Amino acid sequence: MTETLQAIRGMKDVLPDEAPVWDFFEDTVRAWLRRYGYRQIRLPVVENTDLFVRSIGEVTDIVEKEMYSFTDRLNGDSLTLRPEGTASCVRAVVQHNLLYGGGQRLWYAGPMFRHEKPQKGRYRQFHQIGVEALGYAGPDVDAEHMVMVDRLWRDLGLSGIALEINSLGSTEARARYRSRLVDYLSQHEAVLDADSKRRLLTNPLRVLDSKNPALQAVIEGAPRLDDDLDDDSRRHFDDVQRLLRIAGVSFRINPRLVRGLDYYNRTVFEWVTTELGAQGTVCAGGRYDGLIEQIGGKPAPACGFAMGVERLIALLEAGGAVTANAAAEAYLVWSGEQAEAHAWHVAEHLRDAGISVALHYGGGGFKSQMKRADASGARYAVIIGDDEAQAGEASVKPLREATQQTRVKVADLAACIGHGRG
Ligand code: ATP
Ligand code: MG
Repeated sequence: MTETLQAIRGMKDVLPDEAPVWDFFEDTVRAWLRRYGYRQIRLPVVENTDLFVRSIGEVTDIVEKEMYSFTDRLNGDSLTLRPEGTASCVRAVVQHNLLYGGGQRLWYAGPMFRHEKPQKGRYRQFHQIGVEALGYAGPDVDAEHMVMVDRLWRDLGLSGIALEINSLGSTEARARYRSRLVDYLSQHEAVLDADSKRRLLTNPLRVLDSKNPALQAVIEGAPRLDDDLDDDSRRHFDDVQRLLRIAGVSFRINPRLVRGLDYYNRTVFEWVTTELGAQGTVCAGGRYDGLIEQIGGKPAPACGFAMGVERLIALLEAGGAVTANAAAEAYLVWSGEQAEAHAWHVAEHLRDAGISVALHYGGGGFKSQMKRADASGARYAVIIGDDEAQAGEASVKPLREATQQTRVKVADLAACIGHGRG
């Protein structure tokens, strides 16, 4: 026997029963982004490896060990399946000079790829919705990003997702903090794991981002970045908080929040739930004022965030609120010599009227066709035999309630089925 082929580890199929939850999520997200004046940008899934190395940072989990990189067989270029969207978005904005006329409010959606250890809420292909405001320097942008996410949770019917914020300050502030942090961590070197020891030398702030439970006590005791914050960043951070209070969005300052990518400065934030176990961060982002210049554009500030779609889908499924039925409304069964042509005509007629119809495939007797109709999940069976065909009519049998089968003119059929819509 041939061995059956499986999907790649950590890459999930979304099966038809689960797809309606994704539809609900995506529809809600689109409507939400429109209301805030954000426009979609569609980006390639593959980029030059260098783009991610330069933007995300060499000494990060993503670049050190999570990227799907490969060599282009024609010219030997190193290419990478995108592990996140901000770098591509900034690359496109610079390449097409989109900031020429002022700031841009953009969003994108799609699969991202990271070679991580697969577990609940952590996959090798996963999906993000990314939102980026480029060319705006003020705290109003940072604050609105959190205000809009707060609204999205309500639009989705989700509760219990808490906002944590921090400020990473300026490059200089981080340099000051870095030396204090290195002093502290060096004193605790014995407890550090191999990764953290290495990072102590290369990128010590990353140690704070470690998920290793054995390090949490040391991380808790670490010096705080806010003592080193520069005046401008402090003012900026105060304003973000003031605007959040005006908007009535509650938050907690988490002085250890540093984020796993190097490009952030000033405001960083995460939305966290306790309902998903260890993978509790469902949305994360912040300001990245240096990135556009780093990627070769004219210096311009920017701020953005990304949501983990699978984790939010898991929350929606756990809540059980989305019960959309993806089955066709009507299942059309037919049998008889004249019935076939009439059935095809009736099916298209119903579709013209906006009603979804699954036409029975493969013929067979009425009894077995009716079993299929029932199993399909449709609310109605539309039944066509030679009698109906001759009369220009169709019989309608409700499948989900105990009402009688009726027979109607084809012209009245759409109204008859549409009437029963929930
Ligand atoms: P984590 O700390 O969970 O590894 P991260 O800081 O690496 O997340 P970001 O790069 O900020 O994540 O991505 C934004 C969001 O994308 C995360 O908050 C999370 O919801 C989601 N996400 C990140 N990596 C994965 C993954 N491997 N599988 C599923 N979702 C993910
Ligand atoms: Mg990660």
